[in-house]
Amino acid sequence: MKYLFGPVNSRRLGLSQGIDLLTIKTCNYDCIYCEIGPTKIHTCERKEYTPTADIIAEIDELLAEKDADKPIDVFTITATGEPTLHTGLKAVIKHIKQNTGKPVVVLTNGAMFDRADVRQDLMEADIVIPSLDSARDDSFRRIDRPAACVNLPEIILGLGTFCREFSGQVWLEVLLVKNINDSKDDIKALQEAINVIKPDRTQLNTVARPPLEPFARPLNEEELNNIAGQLPGHVEIIARFAKKDRKNPRLPNPDEILTMLVRRPCTISDISEALNLETKATCQLMDKLIAKGEVITMSHQGKTYYQPPHSA
Ligand code: SF4
Repeated sequence: MKYLFGPVNSRRLGLSQGIDLLTIKTCNYDCIYCEIGPTKIHTCERKEYTPTADIIAEIDELLAEKDADKPIDVFTITATGEPTLHTGLKAVIKHIKQNTGKPVVVLTNGAMFDRADVRQDLMEADIVIPSLDSARDDSFRRIDRPAACVNLPEIILGLGTFCREFSGQVWLEVLLVKNINDSKDDIKALQEAINVIKPDRTQLNTVARPPLEPFARPLNEEELNNIAGQLPGHVEIIARFAKKDRKNPRLPNPDEILTMLVRRPCTISDISEALNLETKATCQLMDKLIAKGEVITMSHQGKTYYQPPHSA
């Protein structure tokens, strides 16, 4: 499958079937913390970057599989880049809704929310998770490195308009990077923006996996808690600090793991969490994949990450 990946076990969404609308990294941002490498096409141009018909054909193929009744909780639309740049977004959401009845989630960087056509396309979804890493132009430019066409004040207003008109859930994700977008002024600007946007939830995250730029460093749990306490509305911390073990082990599937690692480097804990595997089983499986030369390891901030050799 070229556009479908997973399903992965997401803490926020349950068992999530991923759909990637783009194949070459195309984004209106080039975030310093990005896990999928530098932006190749830095643009705000909306077009059909990949054939919508091919994406829909893959969804149909999945639904026709014998085990299509596996308990997928949601379909999650994402991209190697920014999914709202793809003009087939609305058609893909509608197709899933009409043919599965399952909720559709869209992960977006939020940069296109100043456009009425993008907001309109997203109305078809059930949960929209836009990012807003900073409401201050200076830190916004340092963390997200937007294309010249991106306008931060218009995005904040557009997010507010969307939240008022959308009947589903909006979870605003804020990724905080140490000494980049976590100053007092940044938090004050975020407070004001959240009061304008009024999302159903605000979810705080920080750098976890190897970022594009090594200087993108995470906040610790205490720092995130402190900021969470200063923001209005329902605020959650979605960054993971504690290591958990799985209670319901199932047979490991190397293909699922390789599909996930092609998209981004992961720790043993990430893999166990995403695929609901026991840590021990995951370690044994990774050792086998390393021995076969299908996976290599790299170190970042004291953690070991696994990835296919060609993505290193
Ligand atoms: S918006 Fe997402 S895909 Fe685009 S550069 Fe930032 S993290 Fe990467």
